[in-house]
Amino acid sequence: MFEKILVANRGEIAVRIIRACKELNIRTVAVYSEADANSMHVQLADEAICIGGPPASESYLRIDRIISAAEITDVDAIHPGYGFLAENTHFAEVCDSCNIRFIGPSPRAMQSLDDKAISRALAKKVGVPTPPGSESTVEKEQDALAVAKRIGYPVMIKAVAGGGGRGMRVAHNDISLVKGYHTARSEAEKAFGNSGVYIEKYIENPHHIEIQVLGDNKGHIIHLGERDCSIQRRNQKVVEEAPSPLLEHKFRKLRDKIGKAAVKIAEAARYTSAGTVEFIVDNLGNYYFLEFNKRIQVEHPVTEEVTGIDLVRYQIMLAMGEPLRHSQSDIQIKGHAIECRINAEDPFDDFRPSPGRIEMYFQPGGRGVRVDTHAYAGYTIPSMYDSMIGKLIATGNDRREAMDRMNRALSEYMITGIKSNVSFQQAIMQDPNFRRGVYSTSFIEQLLGGARRELIDEKA
Ligand code: ADP
Ligand code: ADP
Ligand code: MG
Repeated sequence: MFEKILVANRGEIAVRIIRACKELNIRTVAVYSEADANSMHVQLADEAICIGGPPASESYLRIDRIISAAEITDVDAIHPGYGFLAENTHFAEVCDSCNIRFIGPSPRAMQSLDDKAISRALAKKVGVPTPPGSESTVEKEQDALAVAKRIGYPVMIKAVAGGGGRGMRVAHNDISLVKGYHTARSEAEKAFGNSGVYIEKYIENPHHIEIQVLGDNKGHIIHLGERDCSIQRRNQKVVEEAPSPLLEHKFRKLRDKIGKAAVKIAEAARYTSAGTVEFIVDNLGNYYFLEFNKRIQVEHPVTEEVTGIDLVRYQIMLAMGEPLRHSQSDIQIKGHAIECRINAEDPFDDFRPSPGRIEMYFQPGGRGVRVDTHAYAGYTIPSMYDSMIGKLIATGNDRREAMDRMNRALSEYMITGIKSNVSFQQAIMQDPNFRRGVYSTSFIEQLLGGARRELIDEKA
C-alpha cells in the first residue's frame, strides 16, 4: 500500500487527487509555485513544498525539483494529473529510476504511444480506422503537397506533440498548405519543443467521441463507455456528456465497435492505468482514431457518475499493482451526466481570460450536482495558468433530467470579482439543438453566430 503520494499538479485536479488519497488513507504532498501559495491544493495536502517561480517552466515542469521534493518527503508515488508532466515519458522514466511509482501508464506503454503520429501508426497497424493522411511526420514541403494531393482538401496540419486544442491548422488549398506547414512547424517548436507535424484529412462537422479505458499490469483492459465532447471552442472542450446522444439515437451499433477499437489499441500498446482513446465520427457514422490521452482527463467525472467507478482511486490501485476489479460485463451505464467547464473568461469579450480576485463565491449543490474546483471567496486566480476554475457536473436518470438540473445549478452559481463563462454555459444548455442532442464540433461557432446578440442584450 502506498503511504504517501506527491501530487505534481495544481488547481482542481490536484484537489481531486488529494481527495482520492484521503479516502484511501494515503498522506499527500503538494508542490506549488510562488503564484500558488494560497491555492486550495496547498491547504488540503498534509505537506506542501514550494518548487519555484510562477511560470510552469520554473516550477510544475521542473522534473529535478519535483523529484527532490519527492525525495525530501519520502513519498512512494507521484500522481501527475493532466497537462504539465502527465504525458512526459522521460519524467515517468526518472520516477522509475528513483524508485518512485509514477501513477500512470508504464514507461513502455508511454513509448508505444509517444506522440500523435506514433499512436496513429499503431492504430492503423491493428486495423482501427484513422483519417486519411500522412504515414508519419512530414519533413518536407513537397511531401506535404503530395499528401494533400492524394487525400484532397481540406486537410489539417497537426503537431505530433500538440495538446489542449493547440498546434493545429486547417488548409483548403496548396497556398494555405505551404504557408500553414511552415508556421505550424515553427509554432510547434516554440510551444512544445518539437517541430514534428503530420497531415490528415479535415473531417467536416464531426462528433468528438472518446472511450475511457482501464488497464492493469496483468494485461487486462476494459472500457467504461464513451463521452461526447463535441461542444468545443477552438478545438477545446467546453461541455462533455455521457452517454453520447449520437450513439444513443443515430448510430446505436457504433458504441460497441468504437469501444472494441479503443480496447484493441490499448492492448497493442500494453496499456496500464486509466487512459482515453479519442475518435471523431462523421455524419455517415464513419469513425476515425484521433489520439490516445495517456492520463486522467479533465472530463473524467461524467464517466464516474454514470458508471459509479472512481477513476482516480482506480489509477492509484492499478499503480500499486492491483488487478482490475471489474470485467467488461460488470460495467453498466446508468443515467446521464453532463459536465460544464467553468472558466475565468469573458464571453462578451471574445472569451478573453479574466484572472484576478474572486470576491463572492457560492457554488451550486443539491441532489445530482457535483463541483470539482479549487476556487473559494478571496482566492486570486493567477494569470499564468489555464483559465479553468472548476467543473460543474450534473447527473440525472436521463439526459433531460441532467440538462434541467445543470440549468438549475448554473443559475445558482455566483462568482463575483472576475468574469466567468457561466452565462454562456446557460445559453448552451438552453439551445434547442443542444437539448435535442443534435450537434457537432461546429456547434459553438454556429451558436455564436446567432446568440451573440442575445448575450450582449442580456449584458445591457
Ligand atoms: P482533455 O483531453 O481532458 O480535455 P485537454 O486536452 O483540454 O484535456 O488538456 C488538459 C490540460 O492539459 C489542459 O490544461 C491543456 O492545456 C493541457 N495540455 C494537454 N496537452 C498538452 C500539451 N501537449 N502541451 C501543453 N499542455 C497540454
Ligand atoms: P488535442 O491534442 O489538442 O486534444 P486532438 O487531435 O484531440 O488534439 O483534436 C482536438 C479537436 O480538434 C478534436 O476534438 C476535433 O474537434 C478537432 N480535430 C482534430 N483533428 C481533426 C480532423 N482531422 N478533422 C476535423 N476535426 C479535427
Ligand atoms: Mg484530444
